[in-house]
Amino acid sequence: MSDTVNFGDQLVSPAEKTRRVGAVFSSVAKRYDVMNDLMSGGMHRLWKERFVARIKPRTGERILDMAGGTGDIAFRMAARGSLVTVSDINADMLAVGQDRAAAKRIEGLSWKQENAEVLSFGDAAFDAYTIAFGIRNVTDIPAALKEAHRVLKRGGRLFILEFSTSDWPGFGKLYERYADAVIPRIGKAVAGDEESYRYLVESIRRFPTPDRFRAMIAEAGFAQAKAEPMLGGLVCIWSGWKI
Ligand code: SAM
Repeated sequence: MSDTVNFGDQLVSPAEKTRRVGAVFSSVAKRYDVMNDLMSGGMHRLWKERFVARIKPRTGERILDMAGGTGDIAFRMAARGSLVTVSDINADMLAVGQDRAAAKRIEGLSWKQENAEVLSFGDAAFDAYTIAFGIRNVTDIPAALKEAHRVLKRGGRLFILEFSTSDWPGFGKLYERYADAVIPRIGKAVAGDEESYRYLVESIRRFPTPDRFRAMIAEAGFAQAKAEPMLGGLVCIWSGWKI
């Protein structure tokens, strides 16, 4: 990895990026779920439903939901009978997730604080690895993809949901204008934190295109790496197999 990486539009050291991303999610953890609804007009729920429909979680399957945060993806997979480990680098996000799981009486989940770049799990421990709106926040993305490959069994599936770049004429620019002008203001009004939401907008803009990220997944050793763009690629599901 190079000496500097982007934290949003700023260049910082890798350690500083990890620290600042930690501060962002600790700051927003308690308002994270309501903010997702406000910023996306509820659309994140549809994207997450589609994501889980692609994963097709099965009863008894072991699934690692990395950067699982407050549990949105894990809850949907546990409802289908999978044994889900929710992992996140941020203890504050996990704490909100655990409270939500208890309130909803969701069972079959285990919770573990982990950095996606250096997992403590053994080789071939999981049938599937999922990461939703998490990978763009990871400092060393190739390292995280390699770890995903290591902890999957042969025949295991990788699924990634993330913002990317829309190739619909005009739509990408329109979204950028909305994101720049509106999201930090909602962040200020609702979560009392404009800066964290400015980072989230900037980090979305900097994420690779669907095709470029598909190539990164293939470079990490996954077979049949595929990108399924939604809204022209503004949001995208990538998948791959460990064979
Ligand atoms: N997956 C959840 C969802 O879809 O609602 C949460 C997504 S939230 C936008 C991004 C999450 O990535 C945060 O909870 C953050 O703590 C986590 N994260 C950032 N860097 C990470 C890392 N290196 N390892 C694990 N989790 C990380």
